[in-house]
Amino acid sequence: MKLHAIQTGSVRIKTAQVEGRGRGLRRRLAVFTDRNWTQWLPSFAWVIEHPEGVIVVDTGQGTHLLDTATSLHPYARWEVAFRIERDQEIGPQLHALGIGPRDVKRVVLTHLHCDHDGGLAHFPQTEILVARGEFQMARGWMGRIRGYLPNRWPSWFDPAPLDLAAVPYGPFASSRRLTTAGDVIAVATPGHTRDHVSVVVEDQGTTFFLAGDASYDERLMLAGRVDGVSANDDVAGATLRAIRHLAKDRPTVYLPTHDPQSAARLASRSLVAT
Ligand SMILES: [Zn+2]
Repeated sequence: MKLHAIQTGSVRIKTAQVEGRGRGLRRRLAVFTDRNWTQWLPSFAWVIEHPEGVIVVDTGQGTHLLDTATSLHPYARWEVAFRIERDQEIGPQLHALGIGPRDVKRVVLTHLHCDHDGGLAHFPQTEILVARGEFQMARGWMGRIRGYLPNRWPSWFDPAPLDLAAVPYGPFASSRRLTTAGDVIAVATPGHTRDHVSVVVEDQGTTFFLAGDASYDERLMLAGRVDGVSANDDVAGATLRAIRHLAKDRPTVYLPTHDPQSAARLASRSLVAT
């Protein structure tokens, strides 16, 4: 099995989104009042070259995000900025790895924020898995009001529901195996969004944790610091605790979407020190 980190451009958000300030509504409003931007952060997608076929986890950003500055939604307009060129989209980068669109067996999305579903257009023939509740939250006008961009989805986008079973995986309450071998597993990591999932890859005794936005970096996960957009402090905090438990129980490489260290950590198989 081989895992690749694909950087699909970069994103800048408010520091109060990365590390929440206070609790509850106050924490969520702080994203809008904070004047401080982060540095440019990578937006990674992940490619698992598995004997049963290639699995892509998240599709990263697309160049269509460059015009969010004119969006009517206050978050997209004021609180986020993107950088990406066309050859940084996931399609051309897969091609450079020698992986064609038909080689990809399935795409799994951790959630439907626009820097994770921005490359969907490259997968018109591929089965795409999204948690049922996440799709319901993101679609239609209500989705747009919640800050999703369903109007930017390809017209054919009709994901297969990724229903997790009440089968625990380590400290996670529900999970679903995505390969017959059972070595790629979706686990429920609610917090950043209510139905957020992460993908675990077990390879030669090491657990690779494709975290999505469960936290923006490893330090915040270890510190148990909830981000600025999670709806519920306790739910998000419990997910961060579960990840720490997993990393304590088994050698784990932690790979959040926007952690500037994720690619280097994957290359050197650097474990979470707990
Ligand atoms: Zn997100």
